[in-house]
Amino acid sequence: MGHVSYVNGHFVPHRQALVHIEDRGFQFADGVYEVCAVRAGRFLDEEGHWSRLKRSLGELAIESPLTAGALRLISRELLRRNRVRDALLYLQVTRGVAPRDHAFPKGARPSVVMTLKHFDFEKAEARAAAGVAVRTLPDLRWARCDIKSVGLLPNVLAKQAAKSAGAFEAWLVDEAGAITEGASSNAWIVSAQGKLVTRHLDQAVLPGITRQTILGVVAAKRLALEERAFSLAEARAAREAFISSATTFVTPVIKIDDAPVGDGRPGEVARALRKAYIAAVAA
Ligand code: PMP
Repeated sequence: MGHVSYVNGHFVPHRQALVHIEDRGFQFADGVYEVCAVRAGRFLDEEGHWSRLKRSLGELAIESPLTAGALRLISRELLRRNRVRDALLYLQVTRGVAPRDHAFPKGARPSVVMTLKHFDFEKAEARAAAGVAVRTLPDLRWARCDIKSVGLLPNVLAKQAAKSAGAFEAWLVDEAGAITEGASSNAWIVSAQGKLVTRHLDQAVLPGITRQTILGVVAAKRLALEERAFSLAEARAAREAFISSATTFVTPVIKIDDAPVGDGRPGEVARALRKAYIAAVAA
């Protein structure tokens, strides 16, 4: 973890970076967050992350405490003070501190916290080259997964169950038997028919910023794409599968539960999209 963090207007030593016990993020998960990767000092897909933050705040009627310009300045200063070049920026905004009561407090000021931790892109690259396993689990989350809320308990439990089973990510399956997304990533397949498929955006999934950039790449490459729900059965029969997120970019999935995907090796489409995604965010 970086040695300097940002808390409500101040850069402070990380060990002294504290919020109040009555912060509504702590008591109610009444807040939102973003994670943005920083590679060689460059913030990847930054505009997308700031605009999604604004949307999440709007959905919860939390007044945006900082403009995108201010967020940019603070994040650059945090990077400078931590003297890192490869990192993950974590930003959290909550409704603020107030005596505990479910309804919105009057006059509370949103809390803003930013931390930075070193990120090993080489390790992530090696993981992508090898491919990862996913474990399917029931999607137990709420009905507004499009909001990037800090209420992540079902995601935490799913990720832990996947990890305990030796998998890198959980794939969440809804009541209709369709895969919604991962515990912290979007889910994709290349179907048996050779079409790229990822779930359409609705309130069941987070609109991934990486997903959005990949869709731009897919359009530029004129690849066949279907944005729709896909079942676990279809995923099992797929030629390829992969996940996308700010930290994994495009990472091939080579195993779903105990069965290999395709020939059990990272697929060509996923590998090409990873390269193209990295080129797109570096441009
Ligand atoms: N879905 C969920 C549930 C996530 O937590 C994440 C990671 N933030 C994603 C998808 C991927 O989003 P992004 O590409 O913006 O990191």
